[in-house]
Amino acid sequence: MNFSYPLFTMPFIGIYLIVMAFLFGAIFASFITCTAWRVVRGEDWMLGHSHCDTCGHELSTADLFPIFSYLALKGKCRYCGSKVPPRDLIFEIILGLLFAGTLALHGQVDAVVVAALALEVLLLGLSLADWDSGVIPNGFLAAILVVWILTVGFRDDIQRYALEGIAASAAVGLVLVIAFVIAGKVKGEKLNYGPVKLAMCLMLFLGIRGACIAVAVGLVAGIIFAAACKSKKRKIALAPAISIGVIVAFLAKDVIAMLGV
Ligand SMILES: [Zn+2]
Repeated sequence: MNFSYPLFTMPFIGIYLIVMAFLFGAIFASFITCTAWRVVRGEDWMLGHSHCDTCGHELSTADLFPIFSYLALKGKCRYCGSKVPPRDLIFEIILGLLFAGTLALHGQVDAVVVAALALEVLLLGLSLADWDSGVIPNGFLAAILVVWILTVGFRDDIQRYALEGIAASAAVGLVLVIAFVIAGKVKGEKLNYGPVKLAMCLMLFLGIRGACIAVAVGLVAGIIFAAACKSKKRKIALAPAISIGVIVAFLAKDVIAMLGV
């Protein structure tokens, strides 16, 4: 076991950073769930105030504080008293825990962890958009590429990392394109290649080992999601399964490093 991580050598700062990570995760979740919702409905995703879906009343800053506003108002709109679905609250808690867990496992603040946190935010947004509309918006894919470009230069192992990422991206892309062409021929319809583009963007961040973990976990998650979609008679969304695979691969990398395997 290697405990020589800064978070473990300075426990108070470590705990402070992990609590902050949870809060930032919740704040980013609140922002990205709203963004995804607006993109799906074709609204301007930057401008405009959030409003209650039932009475349309504009929400104030006090109504928008992640988790706490929901609990303080007991899940009801302050203005009309209608029940607010707990979906956003659930994603705020999930992303908060994911941020805290990612930082705790990685043990230090660097380009690797910044890239992982940024990806987690974007993956939540595009998974929600895909689940609601069946389309992965290209804007999210462009943002993923920007995160890669901005963080790759700060890595110590830039050359090996970039080459492995590009190789993994090309390999997974090739396999998926062949699979999609065959599936399209069998079904007799033109398939949406959004999931292929998404997988290729994400593989840039993973080495060969990470890519294997992501593909394995993504496949299992995909089968579960497909079964859930079939039973609800809705279109199958692949982005959530791909996202889960990649996030598990990210976390597993740090667990492996910690165990010194
Ligand atoms: Zn209302």
